[in-house]
Amino acid sequence: MSIRKRIYVSLVASVSATLLLSFLALYYISSQILESRVKNTYQLVYNNYKEILSREERNLRVLDEDKPLYGIHHKYKIEGSSCEDRAYYRVFSSGPYYGINKKYSDGCYYVGVNLEEVLKFATSLLGVDWLVYYERRYLGDILNTSLDTFMKDKVVIGDIVIDKFSDQKVILLPLNVSGYVIHGSFFDKKLLMEVPVVDAKGMHVGRVLLVKDVSEIYRETYNAFIALSIYSFLIVSFLSFMLLRIASVLANRIIFLKDVTASIEKRDFSVVELLDGSEDSWKDEVYDLRHIIQNMALSLKSAFEELEQKKKELEQLAYYDPLTGMPNRRFFFDQTAILMENAKRYGMPLSLLVMDIDFFKRINDTYGHDAGDLVLKSFAEILRKSIRHADLPARFGGEEFVLLMPNTNLQQAKVVAERIRSNFQNSVVVYQGQEISTTVSGGLATYIPGVQSIDELIKMADEALYEAKRGGRNRIEVYKAKR
Ligand code: GH3
Ligand code: MG
Ligand code: MG
Repeated sequence: MSIRKRIYVSLVASVSATLLLSFLALYYISSQILESRVKNTYQLVYNNYKEILSREERNLRVLDEDKPLYGIHHKYKIEGSSCEDRAYYRVFSSGPYYGINKKYSDGCYYVGVNLEEVLKFATSLLGVDWLVYYERRYLGDILNTSLDTFMKDKVVIGDIVIDKFSDQKVILLPLNVSGYVIHGSFFDKKLLMEVPVVDAKGMHVGRVLLVKDVSEIYRETYNAFIALSIYSFLIVSFLSFMLLRIASVLANRIIFLKDVTASIEKRDFSVVELLDGSEDSWKDEVYDLRHIIQNMALSLKSAFEELEQKKKELEQLAYYDPLTGMPNRRFFFDQTAILMENAKRYGMPLSLLVMDIDFFKRINDTYGHDAGDLVLKSFAEILRKSIRHADLPARFGGEEFVLLMPNTNLQQAKVVAERIRSNFQNSVVVYQGQEISTTVSGGLATYIPGVQSIDELIKMADEALYEAKRGGRNRIEVYKAKR
């Protein structure tokens, strides 16, 4: 996997994981906050409502027998009862009442406060809607009016008989609530709270349902959740953007080093100057690595150059004569194959001159070996200067030289051979103040169909050379075929 791909994959993975985790954490925290806020609201409304009820109950207890009752109070004589002192509900033709039994001088009375008025007060104080209902089978237990009159304009849903409500909409809510529940759509949440309605015996015969709109709590929490999600998304995005920038710069630098090193591996040293790193603003380990590679490349470059030089020297040693710098026998034979082939196949003219310095032994004997060497060098120099670029000269050994002349016929070859001979004759080598002068003899042969190899051609030229020596030296003889 490429370094860039690895960076992208791990970044995408970690960003997604971080976002998912923070989203889950935020979701968990939000729902906890929501739950506790709803619970607090429930407790606040419930306790306050209970407090309103118990305040009414306390007021009822201190009501004076002689004083007339308020408009919202109702008094009802109870026959043959123990006049138990417990708060409970009764329903009269004017509505439901919450009250207690009270002993008066003339017997026991139920004294209650109009529940509808209490609930209206709760509405203004706590901002709640409400509904009062009874279960039909218990209705008889609390009813102080005739069932027919009571039922006349009541809403009945199954076993439930709705008595009073603050708002029509409440009727549509699920009424069978125990404790509290949340009801509604995403942005329209209602908190439904149950307050039991009990009869004189303490039996649960119906409910007061308090309804509080908690949409605002939900909306606030959702908004906080969304804001925090966006915030964490932005932070993660910013962080990953920064990381991506750093990582891709690092990756680019490493890839650059890889490319440059690959070029160096292919012995392309032109890239070495790119490693200068002057534009690299990060002076870190990668920067150091760059310089290390540069130094390595430079050492490698000079090692290669040295090697190349040594190779040339070795080639020189293998193919050239160290004394005269002329190609040697080996080089000569390496090169002649193709020239011989051209002559054979395409009939291109090819001439060969074999040369041998005259009385060379004498020079050695008279002036010494060094003087002989000097004469050899001098001859090589004259030979070089007397020929064309395409001609192939060689020192065959001792004071014997050859010259192969491609694209040269016998006539032209004779001219060249004559030029060499006369140039050498006219030259003087000065050794330790003494002038040494000598001559050269040459045998010339040219390719004719039927000649198989270069050796054959050499043999022919050698024969001509022998003739030149025999004829008195300092001359060029041409090979003459024997008949
Ligand atoms: P000729 O005219 O018949 O060719 O006479 P010559 O003396 O040249 O004949 P010969 O071939 O006998 O002598 C060649 C001599 O060249 C013998 C050898 O000592 C000498 N010689 C061979 N190679 C070298 C060399 O590299 N340097 C020197 N100074 N002398 C060499
Ligand atoms: Mg010789
Ligand atoms: Mg000789």
